[in-house]
Amino acid sequence: MNPKLLSHHAENLAYRSELKQRKKIVVKVGSSSLLHAETGRMDYRQIDMLTRELSNIKNGGREVILVSSGATAVGREVIHFDRRDPMDDSRITFKQACAAIGQARLMMIYQKFFSDYNQIAGQVLMTKNTVTNVLSNYNIRNTFAELLRLGVVPIVNENDSVATYEYSVGDNDHLSAMVCSLVGADLLILLSDIEGLYTDDPRRSSNAEFIEYVDNLTEEMLQMGKGSTGSESGTGGMSTKLSAAQIATKSGCDMVIASSRDLHILDDIMEGKNVGTLFRSRKDPDFDLREYIEATMD
Ligand code: GLU
Repeated sequence: MNPKLLSHHAENLAYRSELKQRKKIVVKVGSSSLLHAETGRMDYRQIDMLTRELSNIKNGGREVILVSSGATAVGREVIHFDRRDPMDDSRITFKQACAAIGQARLMMIYQKFFSDYNQIAGQVLMTKNTVTNVLSNYNIRNTFAELLRLGVVPIVNENDSVATYEYSVGDNDHLSAMVCSLVGADLLILLSDIEGLYTDDPRRSSNAEFIEYVDNLTEEMLQMGKGSTGSESGTGGMSTKLSAAQIATKSGCDMVIASSRDLHILDDIMEGKNVGTLFRSRKDPDFDLREYIEATMD
């Protein structure tokens, strides 16, 4: 292992055990984690495991928010759209219609599974405007606070049916980091089909080394993720995860990137086990989410 990574190992292990104390957890799950890769259809075993793990974390005395992708992908499945036909799929209105269909279906499924575990789930749909508009920003904070006070699990997604280019956040990595900043979460877990951060793309380079701990996100690291590709059904690659890490850590929230292959990993993370890549929170007292979004997202 390279000396820089090695020097962080002890620090990582010490800091990991502090995650047990985290109280307000945002978990983001990507479309690829909820669907069968071969067919694009729902993977109920994953949804069952996800809702069970989250319910358990909540029953342990924590507040939990789920940011779930999948609206468009589920909508496509509901109307039996053949993914090999690119004609419709390139039209924005078609995608927005799919999102309208799929978001409702997705919530129906989440409601069902969460109620099996005795939890109430509520839907929160946002766009970039929800954060940048002063009044909406104020309202959404209050809504989250009230939902959590009522013991509800908020399930968040972008409002894809109305968010066109200029209003859209575009990916749920950013969206979940924004939610963390709005609600004052202390831990963000990004679940996807990748295990965490590597020094290089592990699919292309055999020298790529796994990074288990990021003490301080540097400009060099942000550049490292540029150009990385996302999975087939989601929009987030490593680049969006790294810039989400910037929002989360500056807002005073730790962040872990982890693989959703076995969702018991959620429990492992909460137990302080050394899994995934941990970005340590570095609260910046001058960080203002609204200003940051205005300045960095066009
Ligand atoms: N909001 C999109 C959806 O639910 C997903 C965005 C993402 O994949 O990051 O379909």
